[in-house]
Amino acid sequence: MSRVYNFNAGPAVLPLEVLQQAATELVEFKGTGMSIMEHSHRGKDYEAVHVEAIDSIKKLLGLGDNYAVLFLQGGASQQFAMVPMNLLGEGQVADYVNSGAWGSKAIKEAKIIGKVNVLADTSKDIPTRMPDMNSLKYTPGAAYVHVTSNETIAGSQLKAFPKTASPLVADMSSDMLSRRFDPNQFGLIYAGAQKNLGPSGVTLVIIRKDLAEKVSEKIPTIFRYKTHLAENSLYNTPPCYSIYILNLVMKWLLKQGGLEGMEKINREKAAKIYAAIDGSSFYKGTAVKEFRSDMNITFRLPSEALEETFVKEASAQKMKGLKGHRSVGGIRASIYNAFPMEGIDALVAFMKDFEKKNG
Ligand SMILES: *Cc1c(COP(=O)(O)O)cnc(C)c1O
Repeated sequence: MSRVYNFNAGPAVLPLEVLQQAATELVEFKGTGMSIMEHSHRGKDYEAVHVEAIDSIKKLLGLGDNYAVLFLQGGASQQFAMVPMNLLGEGQVADYVNSGAWGSKAIKEAKIIGKVNVLADTSKDIPTRMPDMNSLKYTPGAAYVHVTSNETIAGSQLKAFPKTASPLVADMSSDMLSRRFDPNQFGLIYAGAQKNLGPSGVTLVIIRKDLAEKVSEKIPTIFRYKTHLAENSLYNTPPCYSIYILNLVMKWLLKQGGLEGMEKINREKAAKIYAAIDGSSFYKGTAVKEFRSDMNITFRLPSEALEETFVKEASAQKMKGLKGHRSVGGIRASIYNAFPMEGIDALVAFMKDFEKKNG
């Protein structure tokens, strides 16, 4: 077998043992004579998977019964629209923090639905950064406050979440379940699964149940959180296979010591690469230090030509996906939960070697 070190930003690396278990169960799931993909989403075999996945997420986050875990479709991009469709009532204002490309997209969609107040905008700042969350001037009575916890392209991450009077809504697509946080601070959290949680096709939404009730009857049934809450995400056929893999990833995450264990590993992984950047004058980090992401590590080399050679030579050594997002260039190492420590050590060794030859 020749698995590479997969630094892709999303879809991204999955735990090897998850893929191996899925492979052994692919054709026949637990002696049922068929694949889990072939089971009815309303049968007891699939239902056990569905319920176990929800319970694992509740356990990992310590969620109370006032929150619901939903499995939706359409990615985080659909949540950019669903959040204001459900929560931004007529005559209300929603506060948004624009911290980068993803924050900008969320704002663009919300503006189609209603009135948006941009609290702060660091989306064009170089070096990349998050706004100072202590100096924000919230709109009194705002429908909600929207933040992006980790800007996947910029490589910047919110290290602490603000305490807000209005419900706090977060796009956590690229750092969900990578570290500890207090979920009780939030009204709604969403994340496309394909970075830290599993394959694409399923979107995790955690919503405070009272907020799901607020929806206008003018919204089509499928776009209401209330619908999916009432039907336990079985209103329509869910992406059963994606949820099955997500469930295996959640079990794997629990084995890593849950969020506390995972956070420790993630810190250590990121610190190794940042140390390599800071210990050289050849590599330059693109994010302000206090906002550096533990998930997406972005840096530059002295020239674009060298960056191109870096990506090419790394690829030849089985380190794939290091090219920065097409909108910003540079190098991006995405090191989500499932990215192995040996891959970090391989990258750091490669960086030192590359600098010696080209610096
Ligand atoms: C990847 C990403 C998205 C887009 O997710 P889709 O599931 O492709 O819609 C949104 N927000 C953030 C922070 C992301 O990293």
